[in-house]
Amino acid sequence: MYYLEYMSMQMFDAHTHIDMKHFKNDRERVIQRAREAGLVGMVTSSISPASFRMTLGIIEKYKDFIFHSAGCSASQVTQQEADQIIGLTRKYSTDIVAVGEVGLDYHWVKEPRAREAQEPIFSKFIELASELNLPIVIHSRKAEARASEMLEAQFSGDVLMHCFDGDSTIAQRVADNGWYITLPANFSKYRNRVQSAKILPLEQILLETDGPYLSPTSDRNEPANIQYGCEALGKILDQTKETIGETTTMNTKRFYRL
Ligand SMILES: [Zn+2]
Repeated sequence: MYYLEYMSMQMFDAHTHIDMKHFKNDRERVIQRAREAGLVGMVTSSISPASFRMTLGIIEKYKDFIFHSAGCSASQVTQQEADQIIGLTRKYSTDIVAVGEVGLDYHWVKEPRAREAQEPIFSKFIELASELNLPIVIHSRKAEARASEMLEAQFSGDVLMHCFDGDSTIAQRVADNGWYITLPANFSKYRNRVQSAKILPLEQILLETDGPYLSPTSDRNEPANIQYGCEALGKILDQTKETIGETTTMNTKRFYRL
């Protein structure tokens, strides 16, 4: 009976960083724990040329379970690195499920000119997603309004605002645009994220860990922790965690076209 219950639970980590050094010593066990927790897949996001190459090896080993989304940190990569990532993405495009994470960071970058300097790189990745007909995953820390403006002007494909941290006005704008958001496993600690969970239709909500970051526990974050987000969202929307798991899994597969 417990076995059947366990089998009925389905979850998907829509955004994580399984290539990172935090998982170097026990990546296999982390992935095994994810399967045991009921995950049917995860999307891992590479953020540099080295991370891209590392991820190629990982998805080869875990076909049909780990999927690759290729992006960069627009505030951290050089123009040259960005071009390298774009070249790699074109070359391996059939093994890539989305462009991103990519976008604007106003949390770490405060100076107006430095903020603006991220835009050409972001634009290039938006164009890349259009060119390859791929959905795009957006990092827009404290820059949700500007990122939305740029996307509305330049992009007509599917958009996922990862680890969404906007206020209710932006949440409504995302909902109206038919875009998606992901909520991290620790999202219930943040009032604006709880509000977003109520504003967006459940069909536009995905769950992520962003592991190794944003842990809901005192330990390193990992894909198995998606269950915390699943439970929290169930409580907020008054639904069972099975329903939340199943629906967010479907949403993830729809967005990434899996
Ligand atoms: Zn991330």
